[in-house]
Amino acid sequence: MAHKKKPSVVYWLGENLYINITNNCPNNCYFCLRNFKEGVGSFNLKLEREPSTAEIIAEIEGVINKRNWREIVFCGFGEPFERLDCMLEVCRWIKRHYGKIVTLRVDTNGQAFLLNKGREVVKELKTAGMDKVSVSLNAHNKETYNQVCRPTFENAFESVLEFIEKAKELLEVEVTAVRIPEVDIQAVEEITRKMGVKFRVRDYIQPFW
Ligand code: SF4
Repeated sequence: MAHKKKPSVVYWLGENLYINITNNCPNNCYFCLRNFKEGVGSFNLKLEREPSTAEIIAEIEGVINKRNWREIVFCGFGEPFERLDCMLEVCRWIKRHYGKIVTLRVDTNGQAFLLNKGREVVKELKTAGMDKVSVSLNAHNKETYNQVCRPTFENAFESVLEFIEKAKELLEVEVTAVRIPEVDIQAVEEITRKMGVKFRVRDYIQPFW
């Protein structure tokens, strides 16, 4: 009888090590990989429960010396800012033990402020040792954002833009958009140009984002 593969908290692709800390997300993007796949490569990213911070650290410890990782990235089948305190603690631990050899990045939908009201999210990230943020903007206006990302929060698009503005003050920021018919890629690029942040287009249903 075929057995389902054990869900992975850490997984890798090329030179990067990824951390899958949650499957929760306030969006329901129609293009989300979770709608089509169980995971990435041979890894199952559908968690049966959220791992504790100690469990995440133990998983990282088990693989950190496996390769000369270029980046360690918080990115899985959910939004990492759903678990800000956990992410900060893991960041601090990695920086304390391996800070000289790895860069830390979080891939996010940019709704950190909505998910963590009243927190100084960007400052806290910076203090914990986060180096980079990659934000999926995925739309050139609110109407399109609501159509393709189907957010739970009403002012999600505005809040993502606010997060990008604040994040660029302290962190290296990249903004991305998926190439789908509803999205005017040039207009998204124009938004990022005006904001002075890097922009990258992601192809729809590529193996990874
Ligand atoms: S924001 Fe990311 S994780 Fe959340 S539904 Fe969209 S693609 Fe999926």
